[in-house]
Order: sequence, then structure tokens, then C-alpha cells
Amino acid sequence: MDPIRIGVVGMGKIARDQHLPAIAGNGAFSLAATVSPHDPGMPGVPHHRSLEALLDEGPAVDAVALCTPPQVRYDLAALALKSGIHVFLEKPPGATLAEVAALSARADKVGATLFAGWHSRFAAGVAPARAWLAERKIESVSVIWREDVRVWHPGQAWIWEPGGLGVFDPGINALSIITHILPRPFFLKSATLVLPANRAAPIAADLEFRDTAGAPISMDLDWRQTGPQSWDIIVETDAGTLKLSHGGAVLTIPSGTQHSEDHEYPGLYGRFATLIRGGRSDVDTDPLRLVADAFLRGRREITDPFHD
Ligand code: NAP
Repeated sequence: MDPIRIGVVGMGKIARDQHLPAIAGNGAFSLAATVSPHDPGMPGVPHHRSLEALLDEGPAVDAVALCTPPQVRYDLAALALKSGIHVFLEKPPGATLAEVAALSARADKVGATLFAGWHSRFAAGVAPARAWLAERKIESVSVIWREDVRVWHPGQAWIWEPGGLGVFDPGINALSIITHILPRPFFLKSATLVLPANRAAPIAADLEFRDTAGAPISMDLDWRQTGPQSWDIIVETDAGTLKLSHGGAVLTIPSGTQHSEDHEYPGLYGRFATLIRGGRSDVDTDPLRLVADAFLRGRREITDPFHD
């Protein structure tokens, strides 16, 4: 079977740190081209300043991975789908839910694969956590996602703009995990979003959810953390405590702790290849819907201006 010729669009941090190595390590794909308005690309790989230029001038691609900020993703995905090209959407899959629904319908119509990739769901502890929780009664869930924005997002102006999600850019990773591992649906009861006076997106958020059996789920997101960082999910159950730490990489259950190699992006590309070969799409918008609900129902608090 010929490899899937893929173009990487948006040569920023995640494209270089994760997408390019994952593509290089997966024989189902061959890197055909890169696209980025300002980045120079890579030696020996055809590079264009825009997706339009790639589609006009070639080389031909079967698929694209959209690694841009979310605000420009709809136009790029719609353009690719118009040519029947398979599309991998980085998380979050769009800046609004309606645009993702429109892409999904378009992909079905043209018979192309659309994949909304949630990388944290491929973290090593997530699948075993889901299996363990499936047998248990959930009593409460606590999510603590506290990181230093100056360390993780230096110079990323888009992240503070409408559609950039602010602290929900990392927080949606936690939501992508808990929507996957918890056995029951859950929904927002209350939220407080803390916005710097000079920014359009929150720097912190406190959220309270309930699952359909009444179990409370709390979420503490904060970008002002210095010192130790935490990306932890703690689930109290009738059979003891489950803890997923390091963003889902390390799982602790009463019988012990499991550490495994990071395979988030290899897992995503394995899934993308399977979807393309099987003529299917996978577009789960549940994590984005919960973020949208927080913006819909959350109370705003204005705090001190933020300076990089
Ligand atoms: P980033 O470093 O700011 O990179 C985004 C890149 O997109 C920029 O390099 C920019 O290219 C390019 N771009 C902007 N508009 C474009 C357009 N119209 N066509 C083509 N390229 C365009 O951001 P990032 O951290 O990689 O994040 C990108 C996405 O990945 C976000 O949705 C984020 O949530 C997700 N993500 C990030 C991480 C992470 O650790 N950083 C982890 C997982 C997922 P130029 O530089 O050439 O202008």
C-alpha cells in the first residue's frame, strides 16, 4: 500500500516537537510538504507560504495535519476538504462548535476523513484508567491543571485572543481525558473565569460539574503557577483512589503505579491512518462543548493585567 502523502500546515511548536517526529516514525505516512507563512520549512521538503499555494503548485498531498492556532483552522480544513484531502485537526478542533459540525458534514459529503485529534487521550495511563473505572462507582473527581503560562506559551499572542481559549487551551486536554475515562456523562453546574484586565481569554478558571448520577467533578485551572506544575486527575471510587498524573502519563490505582513511554502523537497518527484506510471520520466535540458551556454559563472576574 502506498504511504499517505501528508502536508503539515502551521510549522510552530507542536508541529516541530511532535507531528514531524510522529510522521517520520510511521511508515503509513510520507511527509510531502510543509506550509507556514513565516517559518522557512525543512531542508529537502517542499515548502509553501499558504495552503492555497500548496494546492495550486503541488506536490500532491492525500492528507494535511492542521497545526495552526484554532482561529484559522476552519478555512484551511474547508479548503482541503474541497479537494477531497483528509484532514487532521489539532486540538481544539475549531474556534466554534458550529464550524466543526460544518466540517464534519463536508467531510462526509466528499468522502474524506476528518479527525479531531485529542492527544491526551493517547497518554499511557488513559486507556487502563478507563478500563478500571468502567467497573467502579464514581464518588468524586478532582482535576488540578496548574502551569506557568510564561514557560509553556511564550509569545503566543493568539492564545489570549477570542477563540484561543486562554487557560482552557491546556484545560481542554484534561476535559478530553475525563470525557473519555468517566463512565457517565457530566455537565457544568457553575464556573468562574478569571480574566486579566488587558486580555480577552481567561488566565484561570474554577469549574464545578455533576455527572448524571450526581457525583461532583471539580476543575481547578490556573496559568499563574510557578514552581512545581500539576496536570493531575484524582477519582475517588467505591474501590479506592485512582490518580492520573503528568497529563495522563502515570496511573496510580490501589494495586500500584504504572509508568510507560510517551506515545501520544504516535497513537494519534496510528489512529489517523486507520481512519483513512477505513474511509471513516472521528470528530468528537465533547471537550470543546464543555469549554463553550463554561464561557456560556461562567461568571467573569477581572484581575490584574498580564504582561509576558
Ligand atoms: P504556535 O507555536 O504558535 O504555532 C502555530 C503556527 O501556525 C505558527 O508557526 C504559524 O506559522 C502557523 N500559522 C498561523 N496561521 C497560519 C495559516 N493561516 N496557515 C498556515 N500556518 C499558519 O502554536 P502551537 O503551540 O504549535 O499550537 C498550535 C495548535 O496546537 C494549538 O491549537 C494548540 O492548542 C495545539 N497544541 C499545542 C501544544 C503545545 O505544546 N504547544 C500541544 C498540543 C496541541 P508562522 O510561524 O509561519 O507564522
